Amino acid sequence: MTTDITADHARSLDMADPLRQYRDRIFNGDPSMVYMDGNSLGRLPIKSIENAENIVKEQWGNALIRSWGDQWFDAPIRIGDKIAKLIGASEGEVAVSDSTTVNLYKLAMSAIWLNASRKKIITDDLNFPSDLYMLQGCNYFLGNSRQLIVAHAKDGMKITTQQMIDLIDEDTALVTLSHVVFKSGYMYDVKAITEHAHKKGALVLWDLSHAVGAVKVALNEWNVDFAVGCTYKYLNGGPGSPAFLYVRKDLQEKALSPIWGWFGDTAPFSFDLKYRPAANIRRFLTGTPPVLSMQTMETGVDLMLEVGMDRLREKSEQLSTYMIALFDKRLAPLGFALGSPRETTSRGSHISFKHPEGYRINRSLIEDMNVIPDFREPDNIRLGLTPLYTSYLDVWECVDRIVRVVSGKHYEKFPVDRLTVT
Ligand SMILES: *Cc1c(COP(=O)(O)O)cnc(C)c1O
Repeated sequence: MTTDITADHARSLDMADPLRQYRDRIFNGDPSMVYMDGNSLGRLPIKSIENAENIVKEQWGNALIRSWGDQWFDAPIRIGDKIAKLIGASEGEVAVSDSTTVNLYKLAMSAIWLNASRKKIITDDLNFPSDLYMLQGCNYFLGNSRQLIVAHAKDGMKITTQQMIDLIDEDTALVTLSHVVFKSGYMYDVKAITEHAHKKGALVLWDLSHAVGAVKVALNEWNVDFAVGCTYKYLNGGPGSPAFLYVRKDLQEKALSPIWGWFGDTAPFSFDLKYRPAANIRRFLTGTPPVLSMQTMETGVDLMLEVGMDRLREKSEQLSTYMIALFDKRLAPLGFALGSPRETTSRGSHISFKHPEGYRINRSLIEDMNVIPDFREPDNIRLGLTPLYTSYLDVWECVDRIVRVVSGKHYEKFPVDRLTVT
């Protein structure tokens, strides 16, 4: 990739972008805004507006309870099958349900129970806090009978495959990590770690929240046991849209959910009083799913399928490589450090820039420059590059506005105290 740092060059890259047309499929009420937070909350597909209205009016308004039989009951699996295509899984291996955290809990407990004679649960300190809280909670309710091992990333950015592999032994019940970590964007080698875990008899549970829709995920090819992920980030499912879970086919009859709800029963509408777990992925459902937001989210998934993961990943790599080239020329001289890996093969689709004044620079970007990044403690300005709709000019504008904030010292007017939501 070239190191031409002019805005005209960014425009020419946009002209040549095969995904260019998809920008017009996304709602944009403020073209001067540079939205770099698609990895936290994806933008609104225009079609979702119409679909949401239809779902509310037709399914809720007109069909009412008849919609359960028409489409609601099947929706978790119908949409799960679509998500399966984005993550290299098969039909019947993915279900939409609950939040990511709840799904993590269900699958972690299931794995710990399957490997009950083993003590170790392995994760890392790059993981999303909720994932770690959930594991602490599991162990707490198991009388702290397990040993939670949290691998430490010395540089705060990455843990090598070897470092992780060295921790996994015959006493390991479960290895659970984020495929792409939320701060630095470091991407694990899922295949190598899964393979090693299996050699030692451990199960793996991958959190795909920052990976699905952004990078290549091949769960079947990598022989992954369990996975979960978000739909409101790169899949553009909308705020609070439910998450998904994946359980490999051959594990589905052995593994049990720790939450025995009626939607996980063989026949929820038989109202039988004794729980009989469904013989398939449905056993990991709990109770009534959020049918409105789940089906609104389906529109975002359809859009991703239409574009195709290969093309999305290709653009994601090009966007982040371009952003790093601009970083080297324009931001490194201003005291920024790159908080993300340089190798494309170990990088997801978001990039962190670190700066001692990161928090105040981030605020100035939002309030003075109409850029929406987000801030992750202690000093990361995190920028999501969403291949579906982020343009090269967005990337250029983002870097240019950061330069203006720092060289004009605009950030100095903000206090160093943190706001509650960043
Ligand atoms: C976004 C994210 C979550 C969010 O969990 P919810 O329970 O859906 O709020 C969990 N884990 C990771 C790694 C994430 O990136």
